[in-house]
Order: sequence, then structure tokens, then C-alpha cells
Amino acid sequence: MRLPPGELQRLAECVLEPIRFSGSVQLHGALLVVDTTTSLITHASENTAPIVGADAMALLGRPLSDLLDAATLAAIDAALVCDSNAGNPVQAVLGERQYDLIVHRIGDSLMVEFEPFEPTPSEMILGTRGALRRLANVRTVAELWARTAIEVRAIIGYDRVMVYHFHPDAHGEVVAEEVIDELEPYLGLHYPASDIPAQARDLYVTKLSRQIVNSGAVPAALLADANQPTPDNLDLSRTELRAVSPHHLEFMRNMGQVSTFSLSLVLHGTLVGMITCAHHSERRLPYNIRDGLELLANQVSLQLGSMGEIERLEQRNEAQELRAALVTQLSRSDDLVDALLRQHVTLLDLIPADGAAVSLGGPIESLGTVPPADVLARLDGVLERAGIETVLVTDVLMTEYPEIAELLPSVAGLLVMRLGASGDYIAWFRGELTRTVKWLGDMRPSNRLTPLSPRNSFSAWSEDVRCTSESWGGTEREASELARDVQAILLGRVQSQLAELALLDSLTGLPNRRLLMERLEEELDRTGPSDQLALIFIDIDHFKSINDDFGHPAGDAALAHVARALTSAARSGDTVARIGGDEFVVLCQSPSGDAIIKLADRFLAAVAAEPENSPGWHVTASAGVAIAGLGVDASQVLSAADAAMYRAKVAGRGRASA
Ligand code: GH3
Ligand code: MG
Repeated sequence: MRLPPGELQRLAECVLEPIRFSGSVQLHGALLVVDTTTSLITHASENTAPIVGADAMALLGRPLSDLLDAATLAAIDAALVCDSNAGNPVQAVLGERQYDLIVHRIGDSLMVEFEPFEPTPSEMILGTRGALRRLANVRTVAELWARTAIEVRAIIGYDRVMVYHFHPDAHGEVVAEEVIDELEPYLGLHYPASDIPAQARDLYVTKLSRQIVNSGAVPAALLADANQPTPDNLDLSRTELRAVSPHHLEFMRNMGQVSTFSLSLVLHGTLVGMITCAHHSERRLPYNIRDGLELLANQVSLQLGSMGEIERLEQRNEAQELRAALVTQLSRSDDLVDALLRQHVTLLDLIPADGAAVSLGGPIESLGTVPPADVLARLDGVLERAGIETVLVTDVLMTEYPEIAELLPSVAGLLVMRLGASGDYIAWFRGELTRTVKWLGDMRPSNRLTPLSPRNSFSAWSEDVRCTSESWGGTEREASELARDVQAILLGRVQSQLAELALLDSLTGLPNRRLLMERLEEELDRTGPSDQLALIFIDIDHFKSINDDFGHPAGDAALAHVARALTSAARSGDTVARIGGDEFVVLCQSPSGDAIIKLADRFLAAVAAEPENSPGWHVTASAGVAIAGLGVDASQVLSAADAAMYRAKVAGRGRASA
């Protein structure tokens, strides 16, 4: 999709923002960082006093055991043995107050986060369990998105719960939403990639849930013990309390959100979507619920993965079946173009489009709506000049290939497979699909203070997408496999044509001497010497004089006349061959006794009949017959027939001799 104005600049700027190392935490909890080699506190968030009852400066450089009793320290050690979050939270009591401690290690640092304990409402726990079961029964992606929004909102009850789906170009779309009536719905809206830049996406893959309790609160900075590195170097990416960037807080405030909770949908290490929850006032979810919802999001991701896989396999199977049907048509048909465009399954069944065209040696033929014939005739040359070797696939022809778009003004989407260097191709054409994309907030510069500022308003803003066709998706693969099949069939046909040419006489199209001898040998192999098999050897009388008197083209015409005469006089099963010059042979099942001479006379009579259109010349021929029973092998039978023909010549021509 085309990028909104200033988007590249914002994406570049976002990459520079040190969101992992924000150096501060949210106010509802406190963070202590402990050096695992010395067990001393190296860093503390400046808000420890209200949370844990001890001043941050006083805690720095002290052992953690000054604050926590031995049993709690042992529980922390036990929790750290688990690789994941399975050991969290660790329950702790300080004075009168109870805490969830969330601990993890990063390098030589132990991160201990203190969240004042709040009991988890039992309906949230029951709700999460029920949701997991209900989600497991969902069968389609759309239903899964919708049900996820319903379930999550039912569990935590924020004003708005949205499920985002990331498109391949990283821009997002709201694919499901549960929202209170008072708020504008965002369902179906798109938002640019810079709303969740690459760096933030990485964080969402590392840390699967993120709670922001109050977008209006100024975060608590981390303080470092003397001789310790500044807190800016602390990687807070896995902490619960990490304060988000001021940019993001501004974004939230612009959207009227005070608290948010988001869950990552991660598949094979890639962020494929998100579940985001927003509320108009301060909200804090207990750790156990956040953790339970992470499990729910994980289940949704796995389901999305397997549903996507099944969908892809089904599409692929269907496409393969269609392609197999097309290939069967191709292999059964003399006319490949007809097989691609006019039989049961067509190119447009394989890949839906407005039109398709095929250039395979002959005239370019088409189906559906395609550019004019003269344009189709020039298409391959234009592709060649544009450096397209085999395949071109685009759904924005005008933007990506303006020089080709000039030739094809009515085409927005083009998929062409060039078949070798011969100018042949198969092409599919799609017209413009006028679509309206609704953006989450006006993407134009007027809706920002500066190009890098977040949008001021997030009201839906519609933009017409022009010069774009429906996406070709994965159809390029089917097209290239079909192209390969067509080329293989073409090659096979050329090869068999060449092989055939080697066995046929080019002037008359009759079998040549080689093919005649092959057939004769086959017959002899099959039946053995037999008086049922005969050769009639026919030579035109004084043929040279036709060449001399009427010219060689007339001689050729006379040869063609003889070929036609012999072929029409032949019975089914007879083979008529031209074995060279003015010599023809008929291989036939011999009638018994003298009848073979009568058969030869019939052929001679056919030759001597007046040719069509009375060309001026007239031919007669002499014939010799030989029975296969007399000869031992094929060449001996042929010599015997030749010798008999010679006798007929000597006897005065125009006759048959045994
Ligand atoms: P005969 O009655 O003794 O057979 O006399 P003929 O003139 O037919 O003599 P012969 O069969 O030996 O001559 C064959 C001639 O056929 C020689 C050659 O010039 C001519 N010829 C052979 N192939 C072609 C061809 O493809 N086209 C034409 N126009 N003439 C051919
Ligand atoms: Mg002759």
C-alpha cells in the first residue's frame, strides 16, 4: 500500500528512539536492580518510598536482604531457576503490605519489580479459563479475531478491545473490536506502520504483554549507586514496569486513553497481530491476569498459524487441481491456445482476472477483457526492453512500471510469464479496483503539529486507493508452474514433429523410404515370410521430360498428383510411400494369385487419370510387384519389386509386371 505523507521520515525517526532503555518506570510499582555477583542494589526507581517504604537513595549500595527476608530471597532464587515467567510472581510481605514480586535476570543484573498485591477477582480467572475453551472451538480466522475481542473485553472490561492484524507491508488493520457505545468504532480502520515501528515490534516479541497504567503520570526515574553505570544503559525490555516513550504517551492522550493493556500475537518469532485494550481512566491488572491473558494470546497465535496454514494448503490444492486439469487439456489437444482459453478449465479459472492472453507462435488470442490486439502484439517487446526476463507481477503497474503502464492504460494489475526468447507469453490482466481505505486518523500533514508528531485526531479518515488491482497473492507460483508445463509440452511437440519429419517426405507428406522399410520389417517380424504381403513398386514413365518440358515446379506438381492418386486408390491398411525421385511403393496385404497384378493396374490407372485442372502434362507409370514370401528380408523384397518394375519398363512401360 502507498505510504502516507511523512511516513518514511517517522519510521526513520522511531528507529532512533531508545525505547528499551527508557531509564524510568511507571509509578504504580518500583524497580530494584541487584548485582548478582555482590548481591548489592545498584539501581532503584525514585518512587521506592511510597511503594516499599524505603527511600531509593537509602537502598542503593545495600544488600537486598536489608529489605526482604530469607524466605522471600529463597523464593526469588527458586523463581529464577525457571527460564520463562513460570516462577513469577513471588509473594512478598513488607511490614503490613503484600506484593507481587516479578523477577528476571539480565546479564549480571537481577531485576526485582514490586507491584502492590491486588487479589485477582475470581470471575477474571474463570473468564480466562472459559475463554480458552471457547476459542479452541473456533474454526475460521475471522471468527477467531471476533471471538478474541469479545472474550478479552468480557474478562477485563476496558472501554475498547481491538484485534490488529499486520499486513505484509507492516501496516495494520483493526480486524475485530469490542467497544462501548459512547466511543467511535475503529473496526476496519487501517493505520500506518509507524504507529508501531520496527523497534517497538521487536519489543512486543520479547515481552508479550504491556500494561500502561496512566498516560498522564510522569514516570519515576531510575537512580544509580555511585560507580554504577547510568540507568540509561539498563535494558528494561523484559520488565513489567518500563515507562514507555513520551511519544507513545502523547499518542495515548491524543486517543483519549489513560490506561492500556496490549498483548502480542507472535507466530514463528514474528509479530502478526496485537490485542490492545484501552480505558478512559486509570486501570491496573493483577500480574496473574496479565500472565493468563498472555497464554490466551499465545493460543490465539497458534490457532491463527494453523488456520492460515490450512487455508494456504486448501488454496494450493485447489490451484493444483485446476492446473492439472489445464495440463490434461493441453496434452490432449493439438491446439494449445484452444486448450488454455476455450475448453472446460481456462486460464481465468486458474488465476481469476479480467482477461488473459496467450501468444504461442501463432496469432495472439485472448479471453475476457484485454488490451487491443496491436498492444498485445507489442507487449513482449516492451517487457524485453524493460528487462523483464521471465515474469512480471504487479498490482500497481502505473507506480512500479510506468513505461509499461503507458502501453496498457486500462490495466492496473499485470501478471505475465514470458516463454523463452521466442516472443511467446501467457498474460493475465486486471483492471483498477477502486477501493476506499479507512485510516485511523487523517494521515495528511494537517493532522500533525510537525511531520514527526503523532496525529492530533484519530477520527476515521477515508482515502481512495487508485491505480491498484486486487492483489495477485501467491498466484505467481501457479502461473510459473503452468508456464513450465506449457513449455515442456511445446518442447515435446517440437521434438516429435522433428522425429516425424525425419520419416516423412516433405514434398508429398507420404512416408519416406526409411519409414516404409521400418513398416515392412515390422510386418515381416510379425508374420514372417508370407505370400500375403506384397510390395508394388511404381516409377513414373519418362518423368524427366515433364521436368524438361514444363519445368521443375510442374514436375513437383506431377509428383504430388501421383501421391494423391495412389493414396486415394489405396485400401485401408495399405501404406503408400515415396522412396525417392519419381519412385513410389505401396505396401499391401496381397490378394491371392494374379489379383495382385490387377491391384497394381488399379494404382497405375489412378496415376494415369487426368489430373485436376488439366495442367497440360500427363503421367503414366510402370509397376513391379513382389510377394514377401519370396524374399528373405525387407531389402530383398524391395529389390525384387524394383526388378519387376524394370521388367515392366522394358516391356513397354505403362504396365505392371511380377
Ligand atoms: P523412366 O521412364 O525410365 O523412369 O524415365 P524417367 O525420366 O522417369 O527416368 P528416371 O525415373 O530415372 O528419372 C527420375 C527423374 O525424376 C530424375 C529427376 O530429375 C526427377 N526428379 C527426382 N526427384 C524430383 C523432384 O523432387 N522434383 C522434380 N521435379 N523432379 C524430380
Ligand atoms: Mg521414371
